[in-house]
Order: sequence, then C-alpha cells, then structure tokens
Amino acid sequence: MDIELSTEDLAFRDEVRAFFSENEYKPGEDYNQWRLDWFAKAREKGGWDIPKWPTDFGGPGWSPTQHYIWEQETAVVNLPWDMPFGIGMLAPVLMAYGNKEQQERFLPDIRARKVNWCQGYSEPGAGSDLAALKTKAVLSEDGSHYTVNGTKMWTTMAQIADWIFCLTRTDDSGIKQQGITFLLFPMNQQGIEIKPIITLGGAHTINTVFITDVKVPVENRIGEEGKAWTYAKGLLQHERTGLAGISRSIIALEKLKNQAGTVKRGNATLMDEPGFRAKVAELEVDLMAAEFTELRSLASASAGAAPGPESSILKLKGTEIQQRIQKLTVEAGGIYSAAWGAKPVGPSFAKGGMGGYLASRAYTIYGGASEVQKDVIAKNVLGLKRSR
Ligand SMILES: Cc1cc2nc3c(=O)[nH]c(=O)nc-3n(C[C@H](O)[C@H](O)[C@H](O)COP(=O)(O)OP(=O)(O)OC[C@H]3O[C@@H](n4cnc5c(N)ncnc54)[C@H](O)[C@@H]3O)c2cc1C
Repeated sequence: MDIELSTEDLAFRDEVRAFFSENEYKPGEDYNQWRLDWFAKAREKGGWDIPKWPTDFGGPGWSPTQHYIWEQETAVVNLPWDMPFGIGMLAPVLMAYGNKEQQERFLPDIRARKVNWCQGYSEPGAGSDLAALKTKAVLSEDGSHYTVNGTKMWTTMAQIADWIFCLTRTDDSGIKQQGITFLLFPMNQQGIEIKPIITLGGAHTINTVFITDVKVPVENRIGEEGKAWTYAKGLLQHERTGLAGISRSIIALEKLKNQAGTVKRGNATLMDEPGFRAKVAELEVDLMAAEFTELRSLASASAGAAPGPESSILKLKGTEIQQRIQKLTVEAGGIYSAAWGAKPVGPSFAKGGMGGYLASRAYTIYGGASEVQKDVIAKNVLGLKRSR
C-alpha cells in the first residue's frame, strides 16, 4: 500500500531507521543488557519504548501515519525480545481501572521490562466461554486478602513470568458474567505449580498453572469486586489487535515470493506457475485489505479511542493470512518441508517450514478462536441478531 508521506513523516522515518541501526544488537554483546539498554534509549526518544501508551502515561502521541511507519519499520529489524502481556494487555487495564497507587506501583516496572507478566484467563472448562471460569477467590473475614484456588490453562510463558493477572470467581449466585474479579499476584510463591504443555510445533511456550490456597492482598484487586468482566473484555480487544501481525505478514509474503522464485519447475520457477501465483495474488489482496483495516484502527487509537470490535476483524483476517503464508511456505518447500526436525535437505528455507506451519495452527485459537471473532463481528459490526 502506498501512503503519501509528508516531509515531516519522511524525516520521522529516517529518524526511526537511524535509531534502529545505531542500536542494533552486535554479536557477542550481553543480550539481556542490550535489551534493557535498548528500551531505556527508546524511552529517551520520548516514549518510543511504549508507542501505544497515551501521552498522559508517557506515550509519544504519534499520528496514525507515524504509527504506521513504526509498524512498517519494526517488521524488518530485530527488535529486542518483548512480551505483550504487561505492556500491551495489563497496562491499558491499569490505566483505565487501576487506582493511582496501583498505577504507580506496577506501570514503571512494566515499562522498564523488569517484570514479566502472564495471562491467567482460560481454564480447563472456560476458553471460548470464558465467563464460565471457576477459579475461586474468597475474601477473608477481615477483608484484607483473598484466598485463591483453581486451575489456569494454556498460560503462555508462565514458566518465566514473575506475576500473573488472573480472572477469579468471587460470586456464583448471578449470571456468569457477574461475580468475576481481577487479581494480580506473584508466580514465585508456594501454592503455584506450573506444568508444561508441549505444542504441536515442539515448543514449550504454554502451561497449566495450578493455584492452591494462594493469598492475595486486597490492594492487588483491580477495580471493583465482581465487575471484572468489563475490564477483561477491554483487555481482549487490545490482545486481538496485537495478534494480527500485518506488517510481519507483508515481509513474510515478500520472503515467500523470493523463496518460491528459487524453486525450479522445468525451465521456470514455482513463482511462474499460474496456480501458485494465483494463491499468492489472493493473499496479497487480502493482506492489503487487512492493512487498511489496521490503519483505520491505528487512526482511532491515536485519537485516544480504545480498540473496538474492529479488533476482531483484524485478529480473524490477520491470523488466517499468517497461516496461509505458512501453508504456502510448506508447499514451496515440497517434500523437503517434511524433513522438519531432521538434518536439512533441499532448499534451506524448507527447514523450519513444517515447524512454522504446525505452530501457526494455534493462531486462530488463542486470543479467542476464529468462530468467536465471527460471532463478535456478526453482532457488533454487522448488527445481526441471534436467531432463536
Ligand atoms: C498457543 C496458545 C496460547 C494460549 N495462551 C493463553 C494465555 O496466555 N492465557 C490464557 O488465558 N489463555 C491462553 N490460551 C487459551 C485460548 O485463549 C483458548 O484456547 C481459546 O480461547 C479457545 O478456548 P478452548 O481452547 O477452551 O476451546 P473451546 O472454547 O473448547 O473451543 C473448541 C472449538 O469450539 C469452537 N467454539 C467454541 N464456542 C463456539 C461458539 N459459540 N460458536 C462457534 N464455535 C465455537 C471454537 O472455535 C473451537 O474451534 C492460549 C491458547 C493457545 C492455543
């Protein structure tokens, strides 16, 4: 997509590029130190470490075009490793519903990437139907703390998380969306047991978390008791916007085209085959449409609005596009893609193709499965009524 950039925007793009090249990771450097320094230097630039935070909390206050430029540029460089849970999910909840003391207590460490957070939403019987969650939190008689018991499921990076933000049930007398309470507590304490789940792609990123008699001071409750359904839904919209990965897909598609151009087919290449070209072209069109949707969402975000139901369109289309790219990568690698995990054979890009493909199966499940996003779109974007 061509966006006409003004002289100021072009200057901003140059500044971003210069920042990335000056602060590139150099082989042999202590990675962790480089990572923390990178964020500290981005902070000195005026909130570049927290592009999406509002200016009241130190964000840069960029225009939609500046956000767009940032997204484009970050897709082609090696950014320091970062987790979305604190910076992109809990922080907006703290800003909207946390009290001043909680904001001052938690936001600085989130910003400095000193504390890793994980998301304790899903449970064995509560995924798409999140409001069915059963992890129980009971307030002590003196009102000083909650005692939490239950099981959280699919918890990403729980094994390295310092803290968890957790949906708990404090009342089950009303409809299931009522009586849910948002609590924060440390992971490294007695009563927390973490069991790994190895995914189809062979990685350990997700876990089951067993919570037994964990005491949580009442000061660690965000907002009112029993009212967390509203906060939880807001957080999900931030999560969904972040999962679309449009800029990364643009780069990945270009890479795929180059790779397919190296695969011989008679006197030509796979990229010259009409069937393959048609699939790539279809992807390109869908990607462009998703890019425009993202731009609309960036425009309203930079005007201060929280993400709305359009985040479901982005999540749905963005993750499907990522999966289609992975699928075509396996197709381009042909039989050599099957050698995943073994000694590489065939074109170098084929190694890892199958691992990426298998891992990508989860994209349309986490952050709310595609069917659930379609429901949200039907109700909140198209205004359709549920049939009886
Ligand atoms: C890799 C990965 C990482 C994750 N990380 C986290 C995390 O860090 N924290 C966290 O809290 N959760 C996490 N999750 C959980 C994720 O949010 C849930 O898996 C997801 O919400 C789906 O819930 P479920 O797995 O219980 O499936 P179910 O809800 O049981 O759904 C099973 C199938 O039924 C379909 N379905 C369900 N309801 C409907 C409906 N109303 N209409 C039509 N179809 C429907 C679904 O689309 C799906 O295909 C992660 C999941 C994965 C795979």
